Formats: sequence, C-alpha cells, structure tokens
Amino acid sequence: MGASRRFAAIAAVAAVLVSGGCAVGTAQGPTGDAGGEEAAMSRTPVTRFTPLTEDDGYVPEGEGLDVDADVPALTRLDADLLAAVREAAEAAEAAGVEEVVVISGWRSERYQEFLWDAAVDLYASEEEARRWVASPEGSAHVTGEAVDIGRTEAAYWFSRFGAEYGLCQTYANEVWHYESVVEPGEECPLPADDASVRR
Ligand SMILES: [Zn+2]
Repeated sequence: MGASRRFAAIAAVAAVLVSGGCAVGTAQGPTGDAGGEEAAMSRTPVTRFTPLTEDDGYVPEGEGLDVDADVPALTRLDADLLAAVREAAEAAEAAGVEEVVVISGWRSERYQEFLWDAAVDLYASEEEARRWVASPEGSAHVTGEAVDIGRTEAAYWFSRFGAEYGLCQTYANEVWHYESVVEPGEECPLPADDASVRR
C-alpha cells in the first residue's frame, strides 16, 4: 500500500479523540475518498482500507452497545468476561446507574491496527501512542479479553464494584477499560500506569 493511501485513511480520522488502549474510533473508519477507488475496493477482499463494520467489532463514536446486544463486539468476547459484564451491568442498574453500555469490546486486528495508526499519527510518536493504544499484537481487545464501559457514571461504578464480578480497571489512565483479572470477590491489583506497561 502506498504511503499516500495510508495518509488518506489517517486523515479521515484526524479529528479522532484517541482514548485508551481502548481508543474508540470515529466516523466510518478508513474509507477511500475517490469514487473509482471505492468501486475498486468493493471487488477486492477486505483489507485495512475497507470501511470498518460491525464484523470488526466497530462501534461508532458516541454510540454504545447494550450489554445484551447480539453483535461481534460482544459475542466474540471471552464468554466468562461477557457473563461478568452482564451481571455487573445488571447490578449497577439496580443500584441506580442510569445507563451501562459497552463502548468497545472485541475488535478485529485491522480495527486495532487502524486505531494504532491513527494514534501514531496523532501523537507523532510510537512511544507516546503506546500509552494510549495497544498495538494489534498487544491488545486485550483483539483477544476478546477487554471491554470499555460507558457512560461515565457506569465506568466509575465498575471501578468501585467491578471486583465483585472479577472485573478490574487495568490501566490508571483508562477508567473505562476492564478485564477479568481476579476471581469474583477478590481484590483487584493496582492498575498499571498506562497501556505501555506490559503486565
Ligand atoms: Zn479498552
């Protein structure tokens, strides 16, 4: 792939607010900007340059999935993690938290790669990008072992009570990112500073 096409894909998300090992993408993902190019892409196999879809676990920015949604972002999560998230969400809502949604769950490798490229572009530094976005090889989202919880009130509820369900906030700079780290009821370990710290 030429550098100019790669640049075009990144430019499409210049406005993305990259957040987290998590980083939730925006808009339509990488898209071609020329009609002819799009037509050509529709005849070619899925590549990192074809638009991200539900099958990539893509969740448009600002949207959130109901924890019971039947989409790959949830169904491709580790089954125990998903069960724990659903149980915790029910408890949070029973405790008065208005809306518990999954902002991002399982992600395809190319979705993570897209987020990674956008972060490297945004921070102009792989070292800085690594603090906020895991590379496709190192992301717990790609292996189905992490979820990002929203909205804010729900994320804070998870940070306080998630351990009862074995769910722990694993990075100090990402209050929304949870993984099954302990047995339900055990104490969560202290979170790492950020996603650049390999545990
Ligand atoms: Zn995350």
